[in-house]
Amino acid sequence: MNRELIGAVAADTDRRLHRLLDTRVNPGAAARDAAAAPLPAELLHEAARHGLFHCALPTDVCTGRGFAPVRWGLVLEHIGYRCTDLSFPLLVYLTAGTIRRLHHDQRTDLLEPLSDGGRLPLIGFAYTEQRDPFDFRGSLTRHGDTITVTTEKSIVAGARILDAFLTYVPDAQGRLTAVLLHRTDPGVSIAPLAVSGFRSAGFGTVRAADTAVPCDRIVDTDGLAHAQRILNAEAAFFVAAPTGRMRAIAEACAMHVAATERHDTPLADYPNVQSLLGRMHATVESCRATLYQALEAYGEDDSLWSPLSWIAKYTVGQHALSVAAMAQRLTGTQGFLDTSPCARHLRDFSGLLAGGNPQEKVEIDLGVHLTQTIRPTLRAPGE
Ligand SMILES: Cc1cc2nc3c(=O)[nH]c(=O)nc-3n(C[C@H](O)[C@H](O)[C@H](O)COP(=O)(O)OP(=O)(O)OC[C@H]3O[C@@H](n4cnc5c(N)ncnc54)[C@H](O)[C@@H]3O)c2cc1C
Repeated sequence: MNRELIGAVAADTDRRLHRLLDTRVNPGAAARDAAAAPLPAELLHEAARHGLFHCALPTDVCTGRGFAPVRWGLVLEHIGYRCTDLSFPLLVYLTAGTIRRLHHDQRTDLLEPLSDGGRLPLIGFAYTEQRDPFDFRGSLTRHGDTITVTTEKSIVAGARILDAFLTYVPDAQGRLTAVLLHRTDPGVSIAPLAVSGFRSAGFGTVRAADTAVPCDRIVDTDGLAHAQRILNAEAAFFVAAPTGRMRAIAEACAMHVAATERHDTPLADYPNVQSLLGRMHATVESCRATLYQALEAYGEDDSLWSPLSWIAKYTVGQHALSVAAMAQRLTGTQGFLDTSPCARHLRDFSGLLAGGNPQEKVEIDLGVHLTQTIRPTLRAPGE
């Protein structure tokens, strides 16, 4: 990855957002986490007005340079570095991902009613039912120009904040269909969901009970592939901000050990402390390298599965928790106190294990992929 580009994106992101993050997002982070209070949607709109999405969205949705995956990943990473509330970049990347998907599907007509005079349409992804996608409950029936939707999606980030949800419901033939529901549609209800991490992301359960909407809300009749394309396209962006946060944590630890003395010696001068700090540093840089590799390989080919994106999600998911735990070791009692963000980050990072796709399932997919890649090159015994 080009270091100049990393620096330029960081400087540009600071210019656009530093003030908003420093004065509006970071100051309330601990209180929102304690109260599980959702971030105000207005913060997302304000960030959009400051140009946050300038390289995340196509130019006809947002003025800017259009979608530039490497830049967008670096923006998210830098937001994670600056922002102590990881729910903010979680909602940011999700919103950008669903808008981009609808744009790719040439369904900007669905964005317009949510734009209200140029505002950013805030759209979530309502997929999970905690059962296999082949066995999703609910129904979608068609009567003339209207469809009636019944569904229950168990865990949706931004459910209590966002305006609409891309959701996936079996039709009369049992085929999963992608459909857009507005939170204000008749029969749609949102129930808060208590979670342990990303607590200001407004998690909730989204339900639709006999919700009748025009049939042009159907986005794709192959909902399984549609959802997979979103999950695949967003896997690397999901872990970009946590990667930035890991770097911020490592740097905060370096400052702490340089400023703290035990036995008249700065902690930073003890080899065991240096070793732990070095391990953190190496871990963070390994995650960054893996993320950058995924961003550089990011295709706009609409693929169902991109191994390097999942390797990035997997690698950051594996290491983020250990970096937070190392920070607690290095900061002693201070890291254990409620005033430290350590525990919050530990809980946030735990969401990377299941989020998107559980780590173990990613391992299986990667193992199968490697076998399939290698097999054609093998010769039969005796050949
Ligand atoms: C931070 C966060 C944000 C999220 N945001 C959203 C959102 O916005 N919208 C949304 O719809 N969902 C969201 N989710 C839900 C998330 O996508 C699911 O939790 C995830 O897909 C895992 O599904 P599950 O909970 O049913 O896990 P399970 O499928 O129950 O997995 C549990 C364990 O079983 C193993 N396992 C499961 N199936 C298999 C298999 N076939 N073969 C081998 N092992 C298996 C897994 O590897 C794992 O170890 C979010 C979750 C988190 C943590």
